[in-house]
Amino acid sequence: MEKQFVLRNVKRVSGEAIDIVIKDGKIAEVTKAGNGHGQLVFDYSGVYVSSGWIDLHVHAFPEFDPYGDEIDEIGVKQGVTTIVDAGSCGADRIADLVTSREQAKTNLFAFLNISRIGLKRVDELSNMEWIDKEKVIQAAKKYQDVIVGLKARISSSVVRNSGIEPLRVARTISHKTSLPLMVHIGSAPPSIEEVIPLLERNDVITHYLNGKENNLFSDKGEPLQVLMDAIERGVHLDVGHGTASFSFKVAEAAKQHHIGLNTISTDIYRGNRLNGPVYSMANVLSKFLYLGYSLEEVIAAVTTHAANWLKKPELGRIKVGDIANLTLFTVQNNPVTLIDSEEDKRVAERTIETKGVVANGELIEC
Ligand SMILES: [Zn+2]
Repeated sequence: MEKQFVLRNVKRVSGEAIDIVIKDGKIAEVTKAGNGHGQLVFDYSGVYVSSGWIDLHVHAFPEFDPYGDEIDEIGVKQGVTTIVDAGSCGADRIADLVTSREQAKTNLFAFLNISRIGLKRVDELSNMEWIDKEKVIQAAKKYQDVIVGLKARISSSVVRNSGIEPLRVARTISHKTSLPLMVHIGSAPPSIEEVIPLLERNDVITHYLNGKENNLFSDKGEPLQVLMDAIERGVHLDVGHGTASFSFKVAEAAKQHHIGLNTISTDIYRGNRLNGPVYSMANVLSKFLYLGYSLEEVIAAVTTHAANWLKKPELGRIKVGDIANLTLFTVQNNPVTLIDSEEDKRVAERTIETKGVVANGELIEC
């Protein structure tokens, strides 16, 4: 790869056509289409560009099964230049996850599971002895450049007889470390009315559009009061589609009630990437286009909104002098059938397709 190259005729989501010149890994120039200079020119007429997509909920520790995958399979190959591992590892294995970043082209951050064993088992909070406060605090300090929050999966199959107690402990550790919580919600117990009031400003509810019994909407599709109160407090809503946590019906109710779209994430790992219903970041984004969100809103949910939550605004903009992390994609007018976690189907008229990325200055075509 040459040190300097030009992405010619790329379109911003606003429709404006531009050239982006990349030199020594950084954005050297953003100029009117046709005006960018360099020996190596890649013509991307008809292709959109945004700052590199950020996936706030993935499973990037391949050793763990079922919730594991290879970093670049769920990163740059998905059009995603930055992934955030959502608690695959606790204090026992976080060092290995951090080391694995070195081999990858995708940027990686992580939520640290409050259970020291992480997703080595899928009932990681069923034994309170696996929550070692001191170990969590030590690991959070040691890997502070990578760890962006703490993960607690608060649903019946994970906590079993521990009930709400793991979340109370998570809250204490969060205050001690000043790290926000990402809380996975799902089946009761504990009930959603017990879980949500414990969340504070900047904490993340992931799986907020799940269609399980214990979800955030009434049977009539009305948002529950605990959800409205959480939004009021500044709690962040994250999609975390996953195998079992995205329902078109619930997403349609959320849209109808103007529940703000904060971040779209996949909760991707081998199983739901290869067999669905996630497949890819582009597939998940297409679902939100189908729901009636504008392209600007959909792309903001994987760029600016995620970057701002991470307090890394440079990851959510295209600015001269920044390290080049960009995503190239198209919007196709091919009708396609999309499927949610409840096996509900919708036919979308438009779909998003990934063309490639520039990851830390390197052009990688999909
Ligand atoms: Zn997950």
